[in-house]
Amino acid sequence: MKIVIVGRGILGSSLYHLLRRKGHEVKVIESGERRVFPSLIHSLLLKDRDIELARMSLDFYREFSVPMKEFISITLGKVDSEILNSWERAGVEIREEHVSWLKANGIVARGGDRLVYISRLISSVPFVRGKAKIDLLKEKVYLDGKEIHADKYLVVAGPWNPCLLGVKTKSYYCWATLVASGVKELGNHFIYDYEKGFYSRPLLGLGTGIAIVGDGRAIESPPGRRIPVDENEVLDRARERLGSLHPLYTAGEFCEGTPDMRPAYGPMTDKILYAGGLDGYGAEVGPGLAKLVVEFIETGEKIKEYFLDRFTGVTDFTVGREPHEI
Ligand SMILES: Cc1cc2nc3c(=O)[nH]c(=O)nc-3n(C[C@H](O)[C@H](O)[C@H](O)COP(=O)(O)OP(=O)(O)OC[C@H]3O[C@@H](n4cnc5c(N)ncnc54)[C@H](O)[C@@H]3O)c2cc1C
Repeated sequence: MKIVIVGRGILGSSLYHLLRRKGHEVKVIESGERRVFPSLIHSLLLKDRDIELARMSLDFYREFSVPMKEFISITLGKVDSEILNSWERAGVEIREEHVSWLKANGIVARGGDRLVYISRLISSVPFVRGKAKIDLLKEKVYLDGKEIHADKYLVVAGPWNPCLLGVKTKSYYCWATLVASGVKELGNHFIYDYEKGFYSRPLLGLGTGIAIVGDGRAIESPPGRRIPVDENEVLDRARERLGSLHPLYTAGEFCEGTPDMRPAYGPMTDKILYAGGLDGYGAEVGPGLAKLVVEFIETGEKIKEYFLDRFTGVTDFTVGREPHEI
């Protein structure tokens, strides 16, 4: 099959590799609007079927040799025992213990969290530069005014999707701050603090006190419109747990949220298929969702929890909490 992918993000890049391996002829169009972070969190510490998607993503990274580095994570705050059981079923080793450097009891997890060097995946994908235009009524895709012919078009343009298609998703701004701290453990642990309301993850994992701190809050905003933020609002909460933190650099980007803040895929027309809504956890569930898309193209199998038609009748919604917030 001749397939055109619009968007070379996590989803577009995963689809490219999966479809090529199945012998399809694949072309990727990328406009260059998105800034790519070198590494992102991959965590199995999610909820419900998202854990399985995250597992499928992990398998994808292993199959396609995408570099990863594993870290111990500490979750603070009350977590439902059913959720803890599902983490264990996913192969994560969990122990509740006192963490002296945090002066608190936490759930210490091994095998659940990784940094995945996502820019390596994305830069391995060849692409044609340009902004694709999609005509849903005529089922056609254009680049620089010229029609691009294909049997299927996969529109995976992230938060720019709503502008392209009027799909039931919204764009939001999400940001985090690079900090320096005297707590050297921050450089080689993940923290999910649901009591104070922040997360922290190592920048590189070199065991220094350099980490990235955020709270994954979703601020509705059209893609491209950056919102001025006050990093101390989040850092003050993190300081209550970690002591002094010096902000070095704050950066944000745009994410795509759906009415239930879960990923979605499904046909827009016979030839044009949409996938997206990866929110703030695209490296966790993106390649897993790409596998579902490929399965749908080849066999027609639909996974109802993620299928786009679950939003039929939704006319508006407010972007909710990020799905990582258990
Ligand atoms: C501060 C921050 C921290 C984050 N941290 C994490 C993390 O640690 N772990 C994690 O899993 N996730 C994290 N995320 C979320 C993650 O970045 C997203 O979920 C993911 O990037 C979404 O991937 P995507 O492929 O759906 O879309 P995108 O990455 O947005 O890719 C879409 C691509 O389509 C292109 N495009 C748009 N319109 C067109 C067009 N008309 N023609 C051609 N190309 C087009 C864009 O330029 C873009 O490259 C974070 C996000 C932010 C903002």
